[in-house]
Amino acid sequence: MESIDCVICGKQSQSPFETVFDRLGENENTFHLVRCTCGFVFLNPRPTQTEIQNYYNVPDYDPHHEKQGNVWDSVYKFVQTVTLKWKYRKILPFEELGFLLDIGGGQGEFANYMAEKNWYVYFQDDHSTIKRTLISNTIQSYRHVKQIPDDVEFSVITLWHSLEHIHDVDFVFTYISEKLVEGGVAAIAVPNLNAPERKIFRSAWAPYDAPRHLYHFNLQSLEDICEKYKLTVIRKYSMFQDAPYNILLSLTPLNPIKLIKAFFITLYAWIYTAIRGPKYSSSILLLCQKQ
Ligand SMILES: [Zn+2]
Repeated sequence: MESIDCVICGKQSQSPFETVFDRLGENENTFHLVRCTCGFVFLNPRPTQTEIQNYYNVPDYDPHHEKQGNVWDSVYKFVQTVTLKWKYRKILPFEELGFLLDIGGGQGEFANYMAEKNWYVYFQDDHSTIKRTLISNTIQSYRHVKQIPDDVEFSVITLWHSLEHIHDVDFVFTYISEKLVEGGVAAIAVPNLNAPERKIFRSAWAPYDAPRHLYHFNLQSLEDICEKYKLTVIRKYSMFQDAPYNILLSLTPLNPIKLIKAFFITLYAWIYTAIRGPKYSSSILLLCQKQ
């Protein structure tokens, strides 16, 4: 385990925020979330980059596992299909075609989708459980962005729910601000600490996902970190599609009563977000531009 300073303001002064269990773990280990004086919430101490691998190599880890059939697997797949198109449409007004890097691209669904739209796609993910066969032949695939040739620049860099998993945030943001072409766009999506349903689930809120989720952004802290690295925020979006999945996952193991409960909590979360905007969405998407 390692202790860290705040990745946004660099301060060491933190207060306890929440104690959480590993929702996929077999033992009762607890993890501690802290809140910095700047307001940012993160896991501290946290497993090192080497130690964290054990927490991904579990059969039930959702974005990586292949098992089909139960309710939330089906929900996940459905949401994913709808979301791919949604993500593409958010980028299109700024960049119609070019070089794209997907950082922490999971099983490569978005990379494949963009390759099919004739983008030149570079893909990075360092978790060995991912099946490489899912990646289209035209995609350049890397375990680490440091392996990407130096002369490649990108018009779009995407981090779909991957920023909260990355140990070296300073490296990744420096990389983004160097490798984006002028006017290029970074699309960053993360779970939102201000999601209305978090207060219902408390420490069982699935997006805490300790110790795999190292940071818990809200709209303000995500804007702060983008601006720290001179990326100008140009759009903010609510990700309504993430609410049902996060809610079902928080209620797992499911039964008929919990499914009814999930329906009403989702309805509540959607209405709350519709009225109050991305600041209170289950997940948020920020588009930033290199000026
Ligand atoms: Zn801070």
